[in-house]
Amino acid sequence: MLARLMTAAVCGVEAIPVSVEVDVGGGLPGMTMVGLPDASVRESRERVRSAIRNSGFPFPNGHITVNLAPADVRKVGAAFDLPIALGILAAGGVLPHRQKAEPTRDGPLVAGGVSLDGGVPAMRGVLPIAAAAKLATPAALLFPAPNLAEAAIVDGIDLFPVRSLFEAAQMFTAKQPQPAVRPIGPTDSDVASIDDLADVAGQLLARRALEIAAAGGHHLLMSGPPGAGKTMLARRLAGILPPLSPDEALAVTTIHSVAGTLPPGGGLLRRRPFRAPHHTCSEIALVGGGSQPRPGELSLAHHGVLFLDELPEFTRRVLETLRQPLELGTITIARVARTVTFPARVTLVGAMNPCPCGYAGDARKQCRCTPLAIERYKSRLSGPMRDRFDLSVEVKAVPWGELRATSPGESSVVVRQRVLDARERQMHRDGMLNARLEGGALRKTCALDAAGERMLAMAMGRQLLSARGTARVLRVARTIADLAGCDAIASTDVAEAIQFRLPS
Ligand SMILES: [Zn+2]
Repeated sequence: MLARLMTAAVCGVEAIPVSVEVDVGGGLPGMTMVGLPDASVRESRERVRSAIRNSGFPFPNGHITVNLAPADVRKVGAAFDLPIALGILAAGGVLPHRQKAEPTRDGPLVAGGVSLDGGVPAMRGVLPIAAAAKLATPAALLFPAPNLAEAAIVDGIDLFPVRSLFEAAQMFTAKQPQPAVRPIGPTDSDVASIDDLADVAGQLLARRALEIAAAGGHHLLMSGPPGAGKTMLARRLAGILPPLSPDEALAVTTIHSVAGTLPPGGGLLRRRPFRAPHHTCSEIALVGGGSQPRPGELSLAHHGVLFLDELPEFTRRVLETLRQPLELGTITIARVARTVTFPARVTLVGAMNPCPCGYAGDARKQCRCTPLAIERYKSRLSGPMRDRFDLSVEVKAVPWGELRATSPGESSVVVRQRVLDARERQMHRDGMLNARLEGGALRKTCALDAAGERMLAMAMGRQLLSARGTARVLRVARTIADLAGCDAIASTDVAEAIQFRLPS
């Protein structure tokens, strides 16, 4: 007998419908799988057999053939267990047949793994699979119950969450299965309190740099000794960026769904992500990849902040892989079977020590690095990588006395309002943030008056600025003017922007 169910394979941030046909025929007992299953899917034979037995169902006699179609979609992971198990039960006559040849054709799309005892654990990628189920007929999804909040993000589909193979089989045998009631109220994964700028004492220059970076979408490089608060400051950048739009929230949540990094039971992510991979992380961990391409830290930070602490400690090869995606806002991973593209639009924050020991220019401790060692340390960052940062700021350790004397700074809510206003000006004027201005658009939008030109020429004359550096200063000056609500860039805006140039 033959049974057919629909499931979906996650590929990049999409799910592609896959049909599972199961035939139980004569011949020696055993199971054959065709249609490009990878090793992890072939292993499902043993899981499925145990799960069926431990759920109290008879395992059909005869030879079982499982066909996964279309054949050119690579099937990876454990999410095919549940449809295969249900297909075996249907083809083996354990589940009642609605039609003779294709008993389960009109059922929901089925996705999930099974454990040996017949349980159905949480899985990765439920959100894109739910989006695929919305396009299917009927628009319905049978899936692991722990992923309910995630699946419920997609509206217009019937949801059948199950905790076990037994429950899933009951759902199929029920005359009129009842879809789940959607969780009401905030299932959003927004529980943790936000890191607020009000907690940062002093650091006026660094706070200003954060605000400019947020307003214009500029990448920011911070230089300062250990313990000066670079990480603390970087964390607060995500909190002064505008809230995610519904589309952005969906895009961010989809990436985290595919990567398996959603908090347990979590729904839509509404907070901008902050990711801080360690400098020893591999190329794949940073930009994504693997035999079943998964998003890396770069994509997990999509629409948020990617923080690279101790930037010169990252290998040059790993940093180079970031360059093109930072420009394009996407990362493409080529594989033999299929090329996968992940979104990767981030604000990059780099941090470095001023020297290998970290204490050059620090009053608290003597730096013992030779000028040559300092030179070598700084040169680990390639020119093209440095060119990614429009803004650079020195972060000094705040002495205790000053810490106690300073009143609390402005809160993130106040700063974020200025950022929102400045962004609105840019989108209204150019349809893009200042950080993306290049060539003609840059010259047109960042025209200077005579005093501004003189200021720029002076900096260039003193060889403080290269041609590339000039473009960066113009973009930052434009953002400073936008924060002030001004159409024209003042010479004082140019002067402030020059302060935030990279130390050479
Ligand atoms: Zn040193």
